[in-house]
Amino acid sequence: MADLIQRLPDIIANQIAAGEVVQRPASVVKELLENSIDAGCTSIALLVEEGGRTLIQIVDNGCGMSEVDARMCFERHATSKIQTTEDLFSIRTMGFRGEALASIAAISQIEIKSKLTDKTIGTQVNIDGGIFLKQEPTVCSNGTVISVKNLFYNIPARRKFLKNDAVEFRYIAEEFERIALAHPKVAMMLIHNDKEIYNLGTANLGFRIAAVLGNTYKEKIVPIEEETDLLGISGFLIKPEYSKKTRGEQYIFLNKRFIKSPYLHNAVLNAYNDIAQSDNHPGYFLFLDIDPQHIDINIHPTKTEVKFENDKLIYAFLSAAIKKVLAGFVTAPALDFNNQADIAMPFPNSTPSDYTPSYNTSSYSPSSHQIKKSSIDQVQQQQWLERVAPEFEQEGAFAFTQTIEEVNKEVGFATTATQSFASTTENTATNKEISEPYQIHNTFLLQQIFSGILLVHQQYASERILYEDAKKALLGTAIIPNQALLFPIEISISPADSLVIQEILQPIQTIGFLLQLKNNVLEVSACPSFLSESFVISTIVDIIENYKQHESVGDSVQERLALSYAKNCSLKIGKKLSVPEMSQLIDKLFACEVPYISPLGKTIVSKIKLAELEQKFL
Ligand code: ADP
Ligand code: MG
Repeated sequence: MADLIQRLPDIIANQIAAGEVVQRPASVVKELLENSIDAGCTSIALLVEEGGRTLIQIVDNGCGMSEVDARMCFERHATSKIQTTEDLFSIRTMGFRGEALASIAAISQIEIKSKLTDKTIGTQVNIDGGIFLKQEPTVCSNGTVISVKNLFYNIPARRKFLKNDAVEFRYIAEEFERIALAHPKVAMMLIHNDKEIYNLGTANLGFRIAAVLGNTYKEKIVPIEEETDLLGISGFLIKPEYSKKTRGEQYIFLNKRFIKSPYLHNAVLNAYNDIAQSDNHPGYFLFLDIDPQHIDINIHPTKTEVKFENDKLIYAFLSAAIKKVLAGFVTAPALDFNNQADIAMPFPNSTPSDYTPSYNTSSYSPSSHQIKKSSIDQVQQQQWLERVAPEFEQEGAFAFTQTIEEVNKEVGFATTATQSFASTTENTATNKEISEPYQIHNTFLLQQIFSGILLVHQQYASERILYEDAKKALLGTAIIPNQALLFPIEISISPADSLVIQEILQPIQTIGFLLQLKNNVLEVSACPSFLSESFVISTIVDIIENYKQHESVGDSVQERLALSYAKNCSLKIGKKLSVPEMSQLIDKLFACEVPYISPLGKTIVSKIKLAELEQKFL
């Protein structure tokens, strides 16, 4: 039989490798940003068009590349970052595998312009789908400009898997944010379709967190700093009172590389639970510094998973360090953002004078690198921060239309039926003598019915009601009454969140909120009428958070919005209800299309038949 095995041509090998390295435009962004960081730059501009589909361009003022290197960097396993096996165990750079650029070049049209600092002329290389087109001298500034055009243009199957531009861009923004948080000393800008999304000046970490995630974070965070022989821990924790109901900001960086570690997350969780038991998710920005010889980051091609040599010790140190901070955070001074000394460096004129980015925008100026002052006053800010569950303060929170008889009919328990057990009970109720519901542990409503009792979970019931109300409102078949606010409320939000808001700005109006978005400030001028004004901010912030969480489920905008609305605006357990409120809640529940299961899949109603009760007393 003939020999069958052939070595794959480089182009195919690179396309296969690209499958591992490049899942979506955000993967390209991550690799390019990391390369710029590795090149020692102090300034990065990232320009993206159409969610990264048509263009990802990165401009850095790093070390640049020689003529030979600018060609070599596209070879597979070509890297300047390691040379020997020993080097593998002392890696401090972001990259080291030497396969990112080869992979990206195999599946896009790529152009690189680069100049070493001591040269007067730079070099340009063009590659299409892994095929070298040309190299020529070019006039450019110190550093490197890489333009990746038409990603996956030669692999339609991969292109088809991309989500819409907004979603792809959100992934990009996420990568950008991680790198921005890990490298506050690097000035970074992100532009999408000519719109400036981020423009971050050099800062210390606290300042950078506020710049990336929103000004209110400066109130929410406390520093953590601990040094042991094995590891250094630094960064910030979000104070327990500001932890979120949904997974919020949870960042662990290992030697400045963002990592995912369920194990270390658990260490954090344990520490929080010891100090402040809560169902909310803790938020943290933790920087671990560990000698690279004690870690192995090589287990996953995209390198967010890590193996530690001393994992139990690291767990214990981390947990102890966090407990220490949490126990004392009340007395820790808040970070003074007005104090320049707290900001390690003012925005530097770090871009070399001859540094002219190849994009056309006048807004990339040092002065615009400052955090804008928040326009909300302290009271409003406080409201936002105190993420208490919304309460229903007004009587008659719901519009109740049905009677309990109708409810019972809908449940399928005929109110006029003569039940065999009637004689066994004192209650020989007719359909006009339905008993009042009774609240148990401020959580369950007990309603006597003819065949036994119903137990209704008050929160899940409320979620179901609001969910169906919202769905109807979003479809235009019902109206959620709203009230104008006496004074519009302003909420300053992060640039990334403002992208989310844009998506839901229109539909959110149908569920009673009137919003306007201007320069990352959200103005709320009306809210659903049952919602007390003091909960407007926390509700909107929660809706945004929730909406983001459900994004991965792939549900429609309406579905996600209805879910968020239901979850956040619902009546919560622990709330004492009056008898009319209880009856009305039950009424409204059984007017729902699906009264038994909450929109998040929980059982709402449990029925216990009289016969079952009698069984307990044999
Ligand atoms: P790795 O980062 O793993 O070394 P890459 O394929 O990402 O592999 O990059 C290959 C090489 O190209 C790098 O080792 C580096 O020498 C060079 N390089 C890539 N991007 C830049 C940049 N922005 N500035 C300077 N050199 C770069
Ligand atoms: Mg790299």
